[in-house]
Amino acid sequence: MRCRIFLVLFLLFATALAGCTHTDRNAETLFQTSTIEALLKGEYEGETSIGELKRHGDFGLGAFNGLDGEMVVLDGVVFHIGVDGTATPAPDDMKTPFAVVTFFTPDQTFHAAQASNLDTLKEILTALMPSANRFYAIRVDGRFTYLKTRSVPRQSPPYPPLAETLRHQQVTEFHDTEGTLVGFYCPPFAEGFNVPGYHFHFITGDRKRGGHVLEVVTGNVRGTLQELYRFSMILSRSGNRTDLDPMPNGDDSLKSVTTGNGALR
Ligand SMILES: [Zn+2]
Repeated sequence: MRCRIFLVLFLLFATALAGCTHTDRNAETLFQTSTIEALLKGEYEGETSIGELKRHGDFGLGAFNGLDGEMVVLDGVVFHIGVDGTATPAPDDMKTPFAVVTFFTPDQTFHAAQASNLDTLKEILTALMPSANRFYAIRVDGRFTYLKTRSVPRQSPPYPPLAETLRHQQVTEFHDTEGTLVGFYCPPFAEGFNVPGYHFHFITGDRKRGGHVLEVVTGNVRGTLQELYRFSMILSRSGNRTDLDPMPNGDDSLKSVTTGNGALR
């Protein structure tokens, strides 16, 4: 008899859990528009509006059509960071060729006060992750000793590949600044559609400046992390050059554009 009661209680509990999962379909989901490979090849015109993007997440990063600057999504606000590093809220009718967002609900906190550079921060994060084969959203708030960011100037068609565009990137340096790192970790199997490893954007505490992070020295900061178990992607409906001209495996252009090395070589 007692066993039956436990069985009924267990089934009720399991049903309730399943119900939560189905109703909250955006939870723990990394949502992205288009692919990093398309962006690398110069596909800078997307169909997803900022208004639409906000329906899929309140936290993330990306780019704008025409490769007009950098994107930071924080606490539900989408910021446009111009080539000079100036941040302003992006209107809902702007569009993005590539963006990655999630509804951020952290499940771990960490301290990264000893991160003397970007690689050290990555090592701290990697040590926290239960598995390198999942997606993670990462938020780091506080005072940063030093940051180097970049942004890019708006391009005109015919669009050049991303590595070529980045020759015209503008670098901004920050010293002893309040702000927030917004980042993602993608597993190695994400190569081709996202950036394997870490990708960070930054915005200052007053939400006035920021960019794609090239280097960071943390000060008194607090980090939060969320594992993401689901993945959702919208591909472009229009035909593009990427369909006809696949990028060969082993191309090192992705590494060069995320680290900035390709543009500075
Ligand atoms: Zn970026």
